[in-house]
Amino acid sequence: MENGIEKCLFCRIAKGFEKADVVYSDEDVIVIRDIHPVAPVHLLVIPRVHVESADMVADPRIWSSVMGAAVNVAREMGLGPDGYRLVVNCGAGAGQTVLHLHVHLLAGRSLGWPPG
Ligand code: AMP
Ligand code: ZN
Repeated sequence: MENGIEKCLFCRIAKGFEKADVVYSDEDVIVIRDIHPVAPVHLLVIPRVHVESADMVADPRIWSSVMGAAVNVAREMGLGPDGYRLVVNCGAGAGQTVLHLHVHLLAGRSLGWPPG
């Protein structure tokens, strides 16, 4: 839809209809700061194409662009030496609340294992 009444929050953000703190963007992905951060660095790496969840990804190039951008942003921010975590919540049982694929990039504190 091109008329600004997209139902999907991350499609609206990717198209600029909704405000977000954008830290990186290219033709395939947008990276924003999570509005409710759970770590000092909490970014969301979002493909511009609408795919509901990891379970619905048909084209592996989506993973290439999303994970590639995640790692590049982490590198640019110098997160490698202390470590960071990439998380994909797939489905309600895993805590997915926004039904548009996204990778969480978490860093800046010690991250426990196993995750909750
Ligand atoms: P998940 O629970 O894995 O689907 O992650 C969705 C994430 O989106 C959560 O961490 C929310 O805090 C975050 N979120 C929701 N609305 C916004 C928004 N408008 N801008 C940035 N992050 C958001
Ligand atoms: Zn969407």
